[in-house]
Amino acid sequence: MHVRATTKVFGIFGHPVNHSLSPTMHNAAFKKLKLDCVYIAFDIHPKNLDSAIQAIKSLGILGVNVTIPHKERILSFLDETSPEVTMTGAVNTVKNENGKLTGYNTDVEGFLMAIKEDLGVIPRGLRIFLLGAGGAARAVLTGLCMNGASEIYLVNRTLDKAKKLASEFKRCYKDISIEAYPLEDRVLVEQSLRTAELLINASSSGMEGVASLELRLELLPKDSIIYDLVYKPRETALLKGAKELGLKAAGGLSMLLYQGAKSFEIWTGEKAPVDVMRKSIQ
Ligand code: NAP
Repeated sequence: MHVRATTKVFGIFGHPVNHSLSPTMHNAAFKKLKLDCVYIAFDIHPKNLDSAIQAIKSLGILGVNVTIPHKERILSFLDETSPEVTMTGAVNTVKNENGKLTGYNTDVEGFLMAIKEDLGVIPRGLRIFLLGAGGAARAVLTGLCMNGASEIYLVNRTLDKAKKLASEFKRCYKDISIEAYPLEDRVLVEQSLRTAELLINASSSGMEGVASLELRLELLPKDSIIYDLVYKPRETALLKGAKELGLKAAGGLSMLLYQGAKSFEIWTGEKAPVDVMRKSIQ
């Protein structure tokens, strides 16, 4: 990669950010398409977010991804946002067009592409067990509701958070049944597992350093499908459990890939070289 006077700059704002796979993925894509662009990780402390946003404009940075802890706060600095940002309340991609900043949330399409490409799943008409009520769960819920899921059991360690999320989405999607359950209620959890056609882990459980949940996967119907958003480690305890039971399952690396591919397309207008991007982060 040759960085020259003409090179266009893209990047990611996060804190911490040194674990991010996005620079590897985007720089591989720029190289493949021979674009004169570079992607850099910027560690932005929350107290510096304001000045970092101004720097997007003053330095002429053409686009940034946004990750923890800035995904919600960045909203107040943007000129426009895309429709999925309204439901998720979070932005993971910003495009700078001559100083006008537009926010997108490509996690939603990233998730939908991941389940379609990896597992052949589209949410329409499905009964879904969704674990988690944080930022990732909001993006997943948005994708599920926008695409006609039929019933969603929203299960979370902290019931209040799940209830709040469920009632917010129920107001917008009156035809979809969304029930919030506490993880500790074994009866409700097991009852939900027995009928779930798709189980999604959008919680941090099973992530490196976070304990895995002991869900009774054997209760799931035999043709149930599992998607685990966690991608560190690549094979989570949930995926191992699915494999042992012969259930179709995939891990979160593909969602990371497809959200990145969508950001790339928003910024460059070029079709993302998905295979090259995938290979760079495997
Ligand atoms: P977040 O906003 O901090 O939410 C964390 C969620 O996990 C909350 O629902 C929390 O429950 C739950 N949780 C945390 N520790 C738990 C435990 N020990 N047992 C049970 N539940 C637990 O985080 P997030 O941004 O939603 O991210 C969640 C996960 O998704 C992370 O592992 C992240 O890496 C992954 N993710 C993957 C992608 C991808 O592209 N594949 C994209 C985004 C996120 P409480 O409400 O009770 O605290």
